[in-house]
Amino acid sequence: MSRFTEVAQAPPDPILGVSEAFRASTSPSKLNLGVGAYRDEDLKPVVLSVVKKAEGKIFNRNENKEYLSIEGLEGFRKATVDLLLGAGHPAIKEGRVAVIQSLSGTGSLRVGAAFLARFQKGAAVYISNPTWGNHRNIFGDENVEWKYYRYFDADTVGLDFKGMMEDLKAAPPGSVVLLHGCAHNPTGVDPTPEQWNAIADLCQERNLLPFFDVAYQGFATGDLDKDAFAPRLFVDRGLEIMVSQSYSKNLGLYGERVGALCMVLKDKETATRVLSQLKRLARALYSNPPTHGARIAAEVVNDKELFDEWKAEMRGMAGRIERVRGELQRALERKYPDKDWSFITRQIGMFSFTGLTPAQVDNMTNKHSVYMTRDGRISLAGLNSAKVEYLADAIVDSVR
Ligand code: PMP
Repeated sequence: MSRFTEVAQAPPDPILGVSEAFRASTSPSKLNLGVGAYRDEDLKPVVLSVVKKAEGKIFNRNENKEYLSIEGLEGFRKATVDLLLGAGHPAIKEGRVAVIQSLSGTGSLRVGAAFLARFQKGAAVYISNPTWGNHRNIFGDENVEWKYYRYFDADTVGLDFKGMMEDLKAAPPGSVVLLHGCAHNPTGVDPTPEQWNAIADLCQERNLLPFFDVAYQGFATGDLDKDAFAPRLFVDRGLEIMVSQSYSKNLGLYGERVGALCMVLKDKETATRVLSQLKRLARALYSNPPTHGARIAAEVVNDKELFDEWKAEMRGMAGRIERVRGELQRALERKYPDKDWSFITRQIGMFSFTGLTPAQVDNMTNKHSVYMTRDGRISLAGLNSAKVEYLADAIVDSVR
């Protein structure tokens, strides 16, 4: 008998489990709107043309496969801070950004969580309700206490700004606030610039530490700079911030695990000490980050021609999603005019938060083979024009 017979079966992941169920389905009309991964109009995964070009250059350089340093590839670290703050930002010139290349957004969040557990002992992390499901695992597994702040107002299908501010005002000084840099997952609802300013005021007044999760830079508006508005605002107002960055979506490097944890700090001396500790934590977690994807990202961001081409490809991806958003809204308005569907085009990013209940989601999946998460989120990146009518019919059948 195994010594592990007491190990209970873990539940499937609420997001990745949807893809498993989709793969197992034999229905010819099946549609995977679970995971947030970009698909083209034929619903096929996409490798960006700039990625292929960068890989060609890397291949021709015949580089070795030696370990990177713990903090990662130099050119990548520069690229990733430039992307976040804008090249030439004073914080970069002053050397007060600690940046460590890590295992995409998730790994960067996890290193951040480990840092908080060790150096901000007892501070709780406030996460939005709802949020990306893995936030709870990441902080919970590091024994960092997490609590919800109100975020989504189901009646207006918008931001519950009043509730959010009340909850953050009640957070003890020194608490951490996890904020989605742009394109909030799962709701697609972001604060306005005025609201971001008020959140920054509150963080300053209450001495809260903002931790930005930037997983969709470029995917909200199609513009990298516009999508970095919030973290840049906080830095320009003199706040110290933590940021996890991911190249999964905007550069389509999902499986390469490319990302970074950046901490913008008061001075260079603090940044040096903080980086030394981040390296210490990463050493024990995974030792050093992967080379290939970092080389790709560095090649694209640091080369003017490739960078411009990337921006155009990103606008193309964001534009396709925006188009199917509009088509879905119009189809639903035609099929079910009594209900207000305008929230679909008000939401931004990859997702639409439909308001479907778990029972309605079950109907979507069991009867119509539309695979989606049980919180009612659909990834519009997995939809094309040809499937809009089918999806709209399934939604109408489920909500009626
Ligand atoms: N944060 C949010 C809000 C996300 O949606 C995702 C991806 N689904 C991530 C972080 C991390 O993704 P990855 O680890 O692939 O970079």
